[in-house]
Amino acid sequence: MPGSSSPDFKVPKPPLDELALSEIKSAIVAKLTLAIGKNAGQATKHDWYKAAALALRDRIVHRWLMTEKESYDSGRKRVYYLSLEFLIGRLFTDALNNMGLMPLFEAALGDLGVGLSDLRNCEPDAALGNGGLGRLAACFMESMATLEIPAFGYGIRYDFGLFRQIISQGWQQEYPDEWLGFGNPWELQRPEVVYQVHFGGSVEHSVDARGRERAIWYPGETVQAVAYDTPIVGWRGKHVNALRLWSARAPDPLRIDVFNTGDYLGASAHEARAEAICKFLYPNDESPAGRELRLRQEYFFVSASLQDLVQRHLNAEGQLRSLAKKAAVQLNDTHPSLAVAELMRLLIDHHGMVWDDAWEITKATLSYTNHTLLPEALETWPIELFERSLPRHLEIIYRINEVHLNHAEARCPGDIDFRAAVSVIDEKGGRRVRMGHLAFIGSHRINGVSAMHSELMKETVFHDLHHLYPGRITNKTNGITFRRWLMLANPGLTELARATCGEGVLDDPTYLVRMEDYAGDAAFQQQFRQVKHRNKVALAKLIGERLGIKVNASALFDVQIKRIHEYKRQLLNVLEAIALYHAIKDEPQRDWVPRVKIFAGKAAASYRYAKLIIKLINDVAETINSDPDTVGRLKVVFIPDYNVSLAEVIIPAADLSEQISTAGMEASGTGNMKFALNGALTIGTLDGANIEIRDNVGPENIAIFGMDALEVVQRRAQGLDATDVITRSPRLARAIRAIETGEFSRDDPGRFAAISHALRHLDHYMVSADFESYYDCQRGIDARWSNSPAWTRAAILNVARMAWFSSDRTIREYAEDIWNVPTSPASQPTLARQAQR
Ligand SMILES: *Cc1c(COP(=O)(O)O)cnc(C)c1O
Repeated sequence: MPGSSSPDFKVPKPPLDELALSEIKSAIVAKLTLAIGKNAGQATKHDWYKAAALALRDRIVHRWLMTEKESYDSGRKRVYYLSLEFLIGRLFTDALNNMGLMPLFEAALGDLGVGLSDLRNCEPDAALGNGGLGRLAACFMESMATLEIPAFGYGIRYDFGLFRQIISQGWQQEYPDEWLGFGNPWELQRPEVVYQVHFGGSVEHSVDARGRERAIWYPGETVQAVAYDTPIVGWRGKHVNALRLWSARAPDPLRIDVFNTGDYLGASAHEARAEAICKFLYPNDESPAGRELRLRQEYFFVSASLQDLVQRHLNAEGQLRSLAKKAAVQLNDTHPSLAVAELMRLLIDHHGMVWDDAWEITKATLSYTNHTLLPEALETWPIELFERSLPRHLEIIYRINEVHLNHAEARCPGDIDFRAAVSVIDEKGGRRVRMGHLAFIGSHRINGVSAMHSELMKETVFHDLHHLYPGRITNKTNGITFRRWLMLANPGLTELARATCGEGVLDDPTYLVRMEDYAGDAAFQQQFRQVKHRNKVALAKLIGERLGIKVNASALFDVQIKRIHEYKRQLLNVLEAIALYHAIKDEPQRDWVPRVKIFAGKAAASYRYAKLIIKLINDVAETINSDPDTVGRLKVVFIPDYNVSLAEVIIPAADLSEQISTAGMEASGTGNMKFALNGALTIGTLDGANIEIRDNVGPENIAIFGMDALEVVQRRAQGLDATDVITRSPRLARAIRAIETGEFSRDDPGRFAAISHALRHLDHYMVSADFESYYDCQRGIDARWSNSPAWTRAAILNVARMAWFSSDRTIREYAEDIWNVPTSPASQPTLARQAQR
């Protein structure tokens, strides 16, 4: 780029401490020799990575022990975040950055002859989650450590995380994710932290010496939960929390008696059954399969976690009456909602508490985050499976329900429909336990994840429960950690932010607002564009290497990366690509705005329609990319194996962020926040947190299209046939016809019949219905792109106004309104201008 005369928005680098540098060098070499067992000459990059990670871990562990002792001594209340998913990604540079050790390690490794970025790529992603829900848990862990809240994350240490995606001839194929294959330097096994988790068997009732009814559970099966701790270090290394993941094993791994009879397989059969619990992550993020193994996973981690926190409380306080004063348990979706019954069981059956006391403590301790309104995604379990696996819990749930239904009857006497609607047991079509209802009734707070979602919760899924227990539903709009999604992912933009907003921006994102003053400054704009351009060159290089496709880094990078799902409407995006392709074919001589459409995302292995959409994207890409008329105008790429690390490369390179879900269906989204923070403009519907992004960045700096949630409901009520809108839109009709007649699948013209049929007659997700509005909005984007100063100004204003979406803000709200725990005063925002909501 030219512009040597323009001012440089640069921050001077402080000199390195030579003593600290040589200390780190020897620490890394010592790890290589003594922990890995190699010398520098033999070491692979992977060995160096491990040595560096272990040297860093030592430094974190010191802080960890210190902060753990402080919270213990001061008797502070702890937060327990229960989540079946933690989509962490890599930890090496995250921990380095938060410890303030990035420059030292970079220099030390450089002196040792290895590059930090090479080592970084040796670390496999910890992909113990499917998408947004698991990534939220990871951002929350980092923010809780940053805000110095004593907290534990509790989950499962899956042997295999989310599957690896390979695209073969356009189709998704799934392969196991062997993330532990080379060991995991971050985790510390805690062989002494083991709990027994029981399943099955029967329950006997008796009356004890004091005349109280007692239940004794005689389980049929026992599994052991062993703890593995990963330290999560907060910003500036002031506080460290543990992510405690449970691994399952059989209490008695080999039955020597059976082994000695010669039945070698039989001797370890129950070991295999126990270990299956932590073998793999369920790959379905939206619709539960209702499988027994999933129920076993849920109970396994809930029981181990609650036993662990009850034990910790007893050690410190000697009794359980004060549990809710010292422990706040957050349930991330309904997956851990067995906690309601399990905590009741522990308090009553194991610690002799009476029902009413136990119930008050349970409600005061637990709170529940709802993540979806989709009816097919609400967890329910068949009574029969429940009874077989967890007989005592079913009894407890029946009793909870009895008291609850009496309350409902008192509120609405004689209203049978109301009782049926609020009951924990769904009596229609085979009796089932409604886990969302259970979590709601057993919690003092239930939160949605964006303003709109929380309102819709009151009107839809929890309408009747909200009526019965008013005041429990609250909103906590999601957030993202800026350490990972700005500082680590986009060092260039971070440097610009430091230069324009001051160093304070690293501690307090509200300083970002100072960037507004530079939004129209030509010199600043140029530097801002330069940062974006470098990020785009890096992404173009990755695309070239992985796909063999050359893309022009000066084109508009139009990006949709997220799980593949009908409601997220990747199909709408491809349809627009097709229509644009046709328009270019019709008038190849026009000066089209050069665009690269970038897709990435995984479809659940069993979700056939979503996998067909992946194939369609790839087939359309193939046709468009090989047509000479599109050269320099339009490219379509699908980058395989979307994960956190890939997101960290793609998002900083995006110009346009596709957040185009059917209105009313995306609870919040967090991808939308990452993009806006990195200076991409959003094209989106009025859905989830898009609405709050609009409120913060200003309606002129976001492109909104399509029906709103109410209009979607109204149109659906009139039927799902889309013939009307197709008739009115010749370009939509032509795009559908192209799919139907095999323009992109000459080898198999009928391949996409299911898609074209849905577009015509089963338009539940309003793809056809929203098409015209979307296409027009995209052409508006073209026009805006052509005015580079105006585009850049809008992009800068997006960055400047995104502070409110920091997960530090979200966690501060949970701490104040739900958990009742203090947060570090050092982390309070100092600049005002936060959005008021
Ligand atoms: C942020 C993130 C998500 C969530 O993206 P949405 O667009 O909000 O669905 C999913 N997967 C990964 C890897 C992410 O980083």
